[in-house]
Amino acid sequence: MSQAPAAKKLLILGAGVGGLSVIKEIAEFDSAAAILDKIDITIVDEDFSHFLGFTLPWVMRGWRAPDSVPIRPTEAALNRVNRVTGRVSSIDPQRQQVTLDDDTTLEFDALILATGARNAVDRVPGLADAVAKGVAVHYYDHDAAAEAHRALSGFTGGRLMFLVTSPVYRCPVAPYEGAMLAADLLEATGARAATEITAYTPEVQPMPSAGPYAGVELVEFLRQRGISFHAEHQVVAVDAARRVVTFDNGAEAGFDLLMFIPPHRPAVTIGDEDWISVDTATMATRHPGIYAIGDTTTVTTPWGRSLPKAAAFARNGAVSAARSALHYLGIVDRTEELSGQGYCYLDTGAGASSRGAGDFFAEPPEIHLSSPTAELNRQKSDEEHQWRALWETERPVLR
Ligand SMILES: Cc1cc2nc3c(=O)[nH]c(=O)nc-3n(C[C@H](O)[C@H](O)[C@H](O)COP(=O)(O)OP(=O)(O)OC[C@H]3O[C@@H](n4cnc5c(N)ncnc54)[C@H](O)[C@@H]3O)c2cc1C
Repeated sequence: MSQAPAAKKLLILGAGVGGLSVIKEIAEFDSAAAILDKIDITIVDEDFSHFLGFTLPWVMRGWRAPDSVPIRPTEAALNRVNRVTGRVSSIDPQRQQVTLDDDTTLEFDALILATGARNAVDRVPGLADAVAKGVAVHYYDHDAAAEAHRALSGFTGGRLMFLVTSPVYRCPVAPYEGAMLAADLLEATGARAATEITAYTPEVQPMPSAGPYAGVELVEFLRQRGISFHAEHQVVAVDAARRVVTFDNGAEAGFDLLMFIPPHRPAVTIGDEDWISVDTATMATRHPGIYAIGDTTTVTTPWGRSLPKAAAFARNGAVSAARSALHYLGIVDRTEELSGQGYCYLDTGAGASSRGAGDFFAEPPEIHLSSPTAELNRQKSDEEHQWRALWETERPVLR
């Protein structure tokens, strides 16, 4: 009697937006039950706690407590998935093996890397010192966002500078959303009239990947709120004692409180690669059987811009990589290319949000920002509720 072939091992690294979306995508296959008989799925995460990025500016604004941000998938939601808590330290593409910090090794037949990006504050000279001295804050993790809220709440007036430290960062609207929400908070505390708010970035305009229009519209939103915008300023150093930022064009600008978007680095990489290049037809890396999605990847759009590090593209990557990995394992018969359709909501203050949506792979993208409304703000909140309901539940995603 012939034996059933051994189940293939699909390993997913990272249980954030991208990694969990791979599981959601497999659950949505018509043939999900038959697929699950043929694969053994393992997901690894250092703490099984992730977040939807847009909740962090809400912590900075004071609308959310930092401990309300983490999303922790339940055991039940991850039914039929082996769950390994551990920190990935290296990936060996030749041996098809992943090593964790505690020296555990995990074998795979196909791997999807979805470990995202990390803040790298030390990459700008003087920035860590400015944080230590309490003159610089950011909102790119929940504790930092709570610290930013404390700093802004106690700010009585002066120069508030928003600084994008590098063109590679998560969520192209987050710096400007942060500036508008800070203005909103200072209105509430009564310090707005005594505060000059500026935004500096190395980019030519905000949201450069969204095409020629959205960034110009965003600058107009800033102008309407009295926030001055300075493009093509790449920081080279921060001097905490003098409270001055120096840029690569020789200019200097002073601040009383610096709100910065940290430099980023990939959380995990393969060999000496930095951000991981993928083939957008399949999300394949240059290593057979290894796929990468979300913030850890670098994708250049047909229009020659970097695809944003945003949740929509982590989810689109998951759709493509789930199918491609199963195709590689001989389980499904076709692959699916990465979709360029994306959107984002932009909080503009006073409980309203704008929205921009479209095809980021168009040449050029024709994305516009809508007028801010309370209804769009509600849709943004609903998105979090729906994602939480899927993972913080007793209902299995895979059955
Ligand atoms: C302030 C801010 C605002 C944002 N606003 C928006 C927005 O409005 N709209 C939008 O679309 N996007 C926004 N984003 C971006 C969005 O959050 C990311 O693009 C999205 O989460 C990327 O998904 P991912 O799966 O690649 O990474 P993540 O969701 O970050 O998941 C990575 C997972 O990998 C795990 N991990 C990392 N390293 C290791 C390791 N060594 N070992 C084991 N596990 C590891 C982590 O614990 C985490 O669970 C924002 C981000 C920030 C920071």
